[in-house]
Amino acid sequence: MNSIRCPICGRDMPAAGPGDWPDRPFCSSRCRLIDLGRWLGGDYCLPAAPSDTEPESEADEAERN
Ligand SMILES: [Zn+2]
Repeated sequence: MNSIRCPICGRDMPAAGPGDWPDRPFCSSRCRLIDLGRWLGGDYCLPAAPSDTEPESEADEAERN
């Protein structure tokens, strides 16, 4: 049984048929967008993915103030 590792987040995924896995070789459309963003020259600007890397930055500031 094959498995493929997402080149963006490194998650192991079971190999699936093309119909089951449209974002191959990425685990999700989000990782595909990240890769696309890198190709376009911005490695942190994600065009359509809401950030979950800093989920509490705004809440933190609100609490401190
Ligand atoms: Zn991924």
